[in-house]
Amino acid sequence: MNGSQRPMTKRAFLAAAGAACAAGCLGSAEPEDDESGADENGAETEPERDPEPDPGPEPPEATLFIDGDPREEFWDRGESWQDCEHLDDWELLAGSLEASTERAYRGSRSAHLTSAGDGEVRVRIPLSGYDLTETSFSLAMYIESPGNHYSPSFDVNAPDCGRKLHFRTRHKIDEPGWIRYDLGVSHTSSLASADEAYATISWAGDDVDWYLDDLRAVPVEREPKLFVQFDDSLRSTYDTAFPIMEEYDVPATVYTITGRVGNSRSLTLAQMEEMQEAGWEFASHTHTHRRTGELSLDEQRAELEESKRWLLDHGFERATSMIAYPFGSFTTDTMDIAADYYDFGTHGQRGSMNRTISSPLSVNRHPGDNPERAMALIDLLLDDRIPTDTLVLYYHDVVEDHDVWIDPEGFERTMAYIDEVGADCLLTSELRNQQYE
Ligand SMILES: [Zn+2]
Repeated sequence: MNGSQRPMTKRAFLAAAGAACAAGCLGSAEPEDDESGADENGAETEPERDPEPDPGPEPPEATLFIDGDPREEFWDRGESWQDCEHLDDWELLAGSLEASTERAYRGSRSAHLTSAGDGEVRVRIPLSGYDLTETSFSLAMYIESPGNHYSPSFDVNAPDCGRKLHFRTRHKIDEPGWIRYDLGVSHTSSLASADEAYATISWAGDDVDWYLDDLRAVPVEREPKLFVQFDDSLRSTYDTAFPIMEEYDVPATVYTITGRVGNSRSLTLAQMEEMQEAGWEFASHTHTHRRTGELSLDEQRAELEESKRWLLDHGFERATSMIAYPFGSFTTDTMDIAADYYDFGTHGQRGSMNRTISSPLSVNRHPGDNPERAMALIDLLLDDRIPTDTLVLYYHDVVEDHDVWIDPEGFERTMAYIDEVGADCLLTSELRNQQYE
């Protein structure tokens, strides 16, 4: 990796932890970075082999159910920049805008934006009092247009950065409901005004009925971190990606379809154990990979519970409180159910993200399948004038001649680039653990 010794040390430690786990230890969910000794359930682990009493704190035990709701724990992160109770300084550029008492994420009102037949909405809000090289944003949105992926735009003219910053998020709406999003920079462009800082929030596409609330400015950390993930626990993750990542010493998290382990296109249990011993980790991608947000509540619960139970039963404790919703399909009901089992849920977006996560059950990430795009995002991550400190790249298949997924050459090129620029790569559970320290 880079010149810093930290990733190497961490990798060696994780490899040791993984090996110990494969040998049958208990309670190895968070083998490090948990100096508080407290986990989500406060449970203690029985020492299995050591007859001597251990005076130090026991590592927390991974359990099926967890206490509390992580959304409530973090929703105050950062500073409320626009509470949407009064919209006096909002300038309407397209569509219509009103302060609505009909819906509110918090407080009594939200900003209600609608387009009028042309699918366009745009507002401009002045931004002052923030150093935009170290400030990112989060906001709560409610969209009354289920069925489509939507990509609202949040663009900041940032003289501090010498550039215009384009923040993005993206989510498929199955049921309308309030969801908070942490935004990250997707790309940059030339300044529109050299001395004026402002944000433009806009929508272009189908007509929309859109509520915004509780826009927050959140601080960006100085140390950029990169995370690599795989969805669907496919055979190519072991056959193709794993050897390449071993070569460049990059660890990864696999979101596992637990009901498919051992199938012809999926990882086998033995392969998963070998990867865990090498420092990788396995989280949930549900049991059978149906579109979570479209299932009945009972079916959703079964998918989420069964998957976590499988990981716990098979010795993959480290990342069992993390889930990726298949096809990015989830609703507020899904998050309510997920909160019983998971404290870190993820979907897909377009861009980087901010490590000050205020919405731990709808964490953003970016598909890495286009190597040039992935490398451009890595450049943004490492640019200390741009307010982004975290990039999560996720992959599916790594195969030749595919329209959607990445080929082995592009994948290797991306990993080599990560190595060349010295990006600090960590396991996603470390991102999760940082939230709960
Ligand atoms: Zn999937």
